[in-house]
Formats: sequence, C-alpha cells, structure tokens
Amino acid sequence: MTGDVDHAAVVELAARVADGELRLHELENHADSDTAAAARRHRVENETGANCETIGSYGFPAETAEANIENMIGAVQIPVGVVGPVAINGGALSGERYLPLATTEGALLASVNRGCSVLTRSGGATVRVTKSGMTRAPVFRVDDVAEALALVEWVRDNERVLREAAEATTNHGELQGVTPYVVGNNVYLRFRFDTKDAMGMNMVTIATKAACDRVEAETTASLVALSGNLCTDKKPAAINAVEGRGRSVTADVVIDRDVVADALHTTPEAIAEINVRKNLIGSAKAGALGFNAHVANAVAAMFLATGQDEAQVVEGANAITTAEVTDDGDLYCSVSLASLEVGTVGGGTKLPTQSEALDILGVRGGGDPAGSNADALAEAIAVAALAGELSLLAALGSRHLSSAHESLGR
Ligand code: NAP
Repeated sequence: MTGDVDHAAVVELAARVADGELRLHELENHADSDTAAAARRHRVENETGANCETIGSYGFPAETAEANIENMIGAVQIPVGVVGPVAINGGALSGERYLPLATTEGALLASVNRGCSVLTRSGGATVRVTKSGMTRAPVFRVDDVAEALALVEWVRDNERVLREAAEATTNHGELQGVTPYVVGNNVYLRFRFDTKDAMGMNMVTIATKAACDRVEAETTASLVALSGNLCTDKKPAAINAVEGRGRSVTADVVIDRDVVADALHTTPEAIAEINVRKNLIGSAKAGALGFNAHVANAVAAMFLATGQDEAQVVEGANAITTAEVTDDGDLYCSVSLASLEVGTVGGGTKLPTQSEALDILGVRGGGDPAGSNADALAEAIAVAALAGELSLLAALGSRHLSSAHESLGR
C-alpha cells in the first residue's frame, strides 16, 4: 500500500508526532488508515534507522484491519502453502481438500503432505467434533465458605435467569451451563457457551458480564475479575485437557501394513512402540500436558493461515496421539485435540488473505447450520495434525528425521 498514500501528508503527520503534537495512536483521527500506517512507519524508520519498506508493502486496505490491530505500521508476511488434497470423512467436512498452512519452518509442509497422502491412500481420515463450548470463568469474592455455598446454590437454582441475561447480548451464543468451583472465599463460575461459528471469546466475555451483573444484583457476592483464569484462555491448563474448550476433536485412520512399509518405510509395530515410549511415557516423565509429537506445528500453521487467535495455539496443541497395531497387523493411529478454539467469523478471519485461505477449505463465514463451518475448520486442523503425527513418527521409525531435514537444506 506504500504507493497509494500521499507522501507529503505522511511526512507532515510524522513530523507532528516528532514534535509531540500527536501521539502515534492518534494518527487515524487525522488521516485514512493507510496514510496513518505510513506516517507511523516513517516515524519509526527515522527513530530507529530501520528500513520497513517490505513491512509497508502489504496487499490489503489497512482499514480492513482496524478491528484487529492498533498502531499498525504494515504487515509481516508469512509464506503460505497447501498440503493435499487429503481425503476427509468428517462430521462437518468431507471429500478431498487442500489444507492451507502458513509457516516459516522448512520441511513442515513436506512432512504433513506425506502424512496426507498416506491418509488418502487409506481411504481418508475419519474425524469428528465430540464436544463444543467456549468458556469464561469470572471470580467472585465472598466472606466465607457458607456464603460461597449459598452462591453455588443460587447459581444452580437460577441458571434460567443467568441464561436470559447472557443470551440477551448475542444473536448466536447459547449458554450451555455454569459450573461453580469454590476455593476458600473465592467462587469461580465457569460459564460455557455454544458460540456457533465464532471462536467466541469476545462474545462470551460480553455475555458473561451480563450474567455477572445479575449475580451481583441478586446475591452478596462481589465480582473481582471477569476472568478468574479457570476459563482457561491462553495458558497451559489441565482443565482444558479434561473438560475441553472450544472444539474437542478427534481424527483417526487405519493404515494398511503394506502402505506403512511402502509410503512410511517402517512398520506398524515400530510406530506403535515409538508412540508409547516417546509421546506417552516421555511426555509423562516430562510432566507435559500434551502427549503428542508436534501437533502444535499443524495447529499453528493453520491458525496463521486462517486468521485464528495465534496465542490459542497453547490450548490447541493440548492433544493426545495414540498408535496401535490392529488384529490384522495394520496401524491404527489417532489424534485427539481437547481444546481447539477456532472460528470462521469474527476476529482475524475476515482479513482478506485469511478469508481466502478459509475459501480454500470452503468454510468462510457463517455455516448452515450455524456452527458447521467452525466444526469443519476444527476437523480440517485435526486431519492436518494427524498427518503430521504420522509423518514424524514414521520418520523417527525409519530414522529418516535428520536426513529429511538435511536433504531439504534445513
Ligand atoms: P467477534 O469478532 O468479537 O464476534 C463475532 C460475532 O459474529 C459474534 O458475536 C456474532 O454476533 C457474529 N456472528 C455472525 N454470524 C455468526 C455465526 N454464524 N456464528 C457465530 N457468530 C456469528 O469474535 P469472537 O469469536 O467473539 O471473539 C474472537 C476475538 O476475540 C478474536 O479477535 C480474539 O483475538 C479476541 N479475544 C478476545 C478475548 C476477550 O477476552 N474479549 C480473549 C481472547 C481473544 P452475535 O453475538 O450478535 O450473535
């Protein structure tokens, strides 16, 4: 967008910032979004000596990102590629699909692509969303445990009141339930909502606030914080692994023994053994929350490509991989992601490049029925994760990991 802005206006705005007349975050009040970004970039370049020409060469109107970022100076460009087409037998997504992945890690797409070709040769991955619901858990202060229990009982008896208050703030969100937790004179109410095609963090925060207002109006409890960290957003937490958050989704496949030999150059027994000794026992010894090889790779790359909140890779990578030899001597492999927080509306999904990536999957915007597009996206990510797990376990099984990286030059 560098070429589209009035250079004189950029220099003048940057000078007003330098003079202390304007602050960096005020520039949109005095110019269109692209001019404001250019002026900010100009100021930063002058102060730091950096050349931000490429950061300034972005391919979308800055205005479209206004809800997504403050103090914009341009865009960081991450290469995006596709793997597949991969055969998917899902509850919400079926057929052969290309999966978009954005990354700077060389060899990642090659690896996931190999897994995808094995999935397709095996008739496709089966994948289902098994649980869905976005949570927010405010913390209330009470005097003592007697008052805490009184609050818990009030919540149990008045869920309808809370539902009406919460759902009045949203057209799509539906309160599924409220689970209380008591710790001394603290009461945490974990609200869970069906957020349909939205990842839902803004939606449920607004809805939970309305419900909290009812709690404060009708009980003696005081709201301390709208998020009491038992939600749990953007932090590693066992509650997400056990209770789920966003979408809980599992993908699995049975791979013929001959295909394991031919395409993965190893055996079902070797993959099953590596999975137990590495993903299960090794992870247990490490005190890990995720029991997998590199699910974060597929989750992060698809989050970046499709406009998800990248910090939620923390929960998205909370996954368990299983592998076993079937009675017929074939390989069964699965990956279960407990807390994959994804949406196809809202947040970064409406940015132009991210929308196009959602189009590759055919899941841009609201689904019919509502929620089906976000389910489909969750299934696609789980399939990419399964493909990645298979490929890496196989590389370890055939001892090709380092040579594969070497031959790809990284
Ligand atoms: P949002 O962009 O704030 O809102 C999406 C809205 O889209 C929904 O509220 C809904 O409006 C509407 N919508 C239209 N069609 C829909 C459909 N088919 N299904 C569901 N909703 C539909 O997005 P969000 O998903 O709630 O929140 C995501 C954003 O929150 C991201 O930018 C993320 O980075 C950020 N975030 C916020 C917090 C926080 O604490 N606030 C925490 C972490 C991340 P109605 O509600 O009127 O139905």
